[in-house]
Amino acid sequence: MFEIIDFSDDDDALLEGVRGHKGKAWSAKAEVVAYRKRLLELQGYRCAYCQGVIDLDEVGHRELDHILPKSTTKDCTIDKGRSNDDKHRQHTFGYPQFTFEPLNLIVTCKICNAFKKSHDPLLDRSLAYESDDYPVLGSILWFYPYSHRYSDHISRTENWTYKRLSCQGEAVIRVCKLDKAEVLASRFAIRALIQAKRSKNARAAFTSLAAHVHNEVCSMEQAVDALAGTLDISENICEQLIELWLFYLRGGGVRHVEKFESILAAIVFDESLGIDEAAEPFARAAEVQTA
Ligand SMILES: [Zn+2]
Repeated sequence: MFEIIDFSDDDDALLEGVRGHKGKAWSAKAEVVAYRKRLLELQGYRCAYCQGVIDLDEVGHRELDHILPKSTTKDCTIDKGRSNDDKHRQHTFGYPQFTFEPLNLIVTCKICNAFKKSHDPLLDRSLAYESDDYPVLGSILWFYPYSHRYSDHISRTENWTYKRLSCQGEAVIRVCKLDKAEVLASRFAIRALIQAKRSKNARAAFTSLAAHVHNEVCSMEQAVDALAGTLDISENICEQLIELWLFYLRGGGVRHVEKFESILAAIVFDESLGIDEAAEPFARAAEVQTA
């Protein structure tokens, strides 16, 4: 999981390269592209806001978010742009001086960025912020990944729901809609479903979905739902099979693989053997292992 951006001394040149474009119009200059790739590494290929996996450094998979928006939004009025009321924070006069400030940039998934849009997180917007110095930490109402640790601000439960641990974390959860179940389903459950449907056979579906759970790409519940729906196998059996493969992935030894294969064979090849009947002894073994 992503916690905090932790640069090494070797990154200084990269940061200066991005800053060198100060004053120019925004575009993905070579230095920006290099910095984005480095951020992806430093973020462990996770969205800084939702922790969703970012598979590729390509359009449709990732975005480079300006934490403080870079430009004035259309129809921004003094009333809205200088208001500290949350409902007006999509209206902003922007902070063009930080367009090429690397510490104002962060990689997010497409969905988080689409919800954040031009949300302006400066705590007090009543006066124009014209300084070239980036605002000090306490003056931004937002999780700031260059100084904050994720787990101090947002907790993500095993089932991929989010809890606020600070007002900065709360702002991210609310604006990026990490508190909306239907939005969460579209973020993560869909990944599990696509993986299940893409798999060339039942075995591949179970092992890849178990790997997804293991790597915290989706939750157990989402993996079970995707498999049960795609393969028409009971949720109970799906969960048992995933758990057996998880035991194996976590170093549990080949014994679990053998059980996994037996249950799977019973489901796939031997329809005369009831699935529950075939799975029951293994389920008990799995319970003993978990205990
Ligand atoms: Zn995200």
